[in-house]
Amino acid sequence: IFVAFLVIFFGVASFMSVVMSKRAMVPITNAFTRQREFVADASHELRTPLSVIMSSIDAMEMTIEPVPEENFVRKMLLNMRQEVKRMTNLVGDLLTLARSDSNTIETKMETFDFRPLAGKALESVSPLAASKQIALEMHAPDTLTATGDPQRLSQLLYILLDNAIKYTANGGEVCLTLSKGESQLCLQVQDTGIGIKPEDQGHIFERFYRADKSRSRQMGGHGLGLSIAKWIVETHGGTIQLTSEIGKGSTFTIRIPIQSTWVSGTGSYVN
Ligand code: ADP
Repeated sequence: IFVAFLVIFFGVASFMSVVMSKRAMVPITNAFTRQREFVADASHELRTPLSVIMSSIDAMEMTIEPVPEENFVRKMLLNMRQEVKRMTNLVGDLLTLARSDSNTIETKMETFDFRPLAGKALESVSPLAASKQIALEMHAPDTLTATGDPQRLSQLLYILLDNAIKYTANGGEVCLTLSKGESQLCLQVQDTGIGIKPEDQGHIFERFYRADKSRSRQMGGHGLGLSIAKWIVETHGGTIQLTSEIGKGSTFTIRIPIQSTWVSGTGSYVN
């Protein structure tokens, strides 16, 4: 009787714990899905009014007479432009991450020459580098055939180069090195910037994490760039690594397998 009692007791207890855990899991999963959909819908809806505000700022700037830089209206329009641009970037990044969570971004894999793509990424950040007298360099073989999503890989380079410039003092250096091994493509973005503290290094790929909040905000950052960079690397089946020393600079190294295979339904590639 005692043994039968124990069997029944533990049987009922384990059945109850399975039921309870399932009951607890369903609302959490639903809540997560709903939250993700909310972020995606809200970001999507915010894009149109933001672009209308931006066009209105353009129109207002064109209609005001040429006025000195310290003119109040001109200063206000400049502030508005900066904040709308910041918000547009934030909304775009939120939408990318929400879509990446639900695997609804289609990755378009192509085989292409990586060098011109890297050249364009450098070109797009060169005005920012020039404004800080930062020397931009690229080391790469003449041709570098790679397989990946060109649009996402450009975005990845842009995020890393933009950060490298943002977090490097005037007169510093930023270098992009591309190389190809037997089975992987290696991209390295190196800067002579402020560096990242060891205690922050493990967190900087987390969403909204900023090692130096005031500096990041001042630079127009909101802590989502590296989360997107990590997601792009992972969808290509690759890895991203950081080495950094305070006051000396940081190096981000990305390795992407040359032969990757699409894993249907997972939204990612594996080698
Ligand atoms: P943000 O938009 O704030 O730059 P990111 O996700 O791109 O957001 O980066 C997260 C944080 O990592 C930044 O706020 C900054 O503190 C730090 N960081 C990123 N790249 C660098 C770098 N090259 N040098 C120093 N700090 C960096």
